[in-house]
Amino acid sequence: MKLSIIVPCYNEEGVVGLFYEEAIHHIQKCNCEYELIFVNDGSKDRTVEDCLKIKEKDEHVVIVDFSRNFGKEAAMLAGLQTSTGDLVVLMDADLQDPPKLLPEMIRYITEEGYDSVATYRVDRKGEPPIRSWFARQFYKLINKMTEVEIVDGARDYRMMTRDMVNSIISMPEVHRFSKGIFTWVGFNTKYLEYENVERVAGETKWSFWKLFKYAIEGIVAFTTFPLRLATILGFLMSFVGFMFMLYITVKAILFGDPVAGYPSLIVVITLIGGIQLLVLGVMGEYLAKTYMEVKSRPKYIVKRKL
Ligand code: UDP
Ligand code: MG
Repeated sequence: MKLSIIVPCYNEEGVVGLFYEEAIHHIQKCNCEYELIFVNDGSKDRTVEDCLKIKEKDEHVVIVDFSRNFGKEAAMLAGLQTSTGDLVVLMDADLQDPPKLLPEMIRYITEEGYDSVATYRVDRKGEPPIRSWFARQFYKLINKMTEVEIVDGARDYRMMTRDMVNSIISMPEVHRFSKGIFTWVGFNTKYLEYENVERVAGETKWSFWKLFKYAIEGIVAFTTFPLRLATILGFLMSFVGFMFMLYITVKAILFGDPVAGYPSLIVVITLIGGIQLLVLGVMGEYLAKTYMEVKSRPKYIVKRKL
């Protein structure tokens, strides 16, 4: 049996070395053949050189070097497509995904018949409170709107069988939201929990704005419910408009005075204008995604594979 370990790296100079030192112990404990795939996602520092140094020591290392930064989703996909193992695991380079769980994960798959072992954090220790709050709201929202169930605090740290990896690779979408894709493909998944571990070195690549965009991307990728919102709002506004019309007509017939009502007119015009723009924006969001999907550009470009 062969285990493929995929590690996306973006500006992880100094961190990949620490990762290797720590992870290799636990990998060797798994008693199986392995390959360690570092995907260098267009780092601007000496990450590749660090990976090359590791490769000199250990011939099980494979390096996929991107031509520029394509994002973690692309890096994970490249890793999955490069992997040859019977079991594949995705791990961050910063040791926030504890490698000591690896033997346990393998056990769940080989002995208990699961197809996948995923992990989630029980707490968000060491993270700014507003960020945690927004993250929790995001999980609530996406689980309400979509059919796929995404566990709050779910990490990308996950081990999968070859069958599951193949079905993930077969999904052609350009805008990839892995957390959703993993649950969408189905298969039997065991969830392991662990306490949040802080990054060993370096710093997080996720600004608040990046996370916000990622959240919108996740929603647009997995549900068209916001589009339906336009229909619902349209019905609602039409109903309100109709009632208002009746009221105005009756009032004009009974009391005359058809001209007054400038304030209410302004309120109605701005309200409807606002809603129309909002709905247009939502449609634009989907149109833009459709446009990018139709172009079907490659999801990443590999400069060299070592
Ligand atoms: N990463 C990547 N491409 C990017 C951003 C991040 O490959 O554009 C990698 C990064 O090197 C790390 C993992 O994705 O191995 C998780 O990133 P990070 O630790 O910054 O995220 P956090 O743990 O703070 O959510
Ligand atoms: Mg991290």
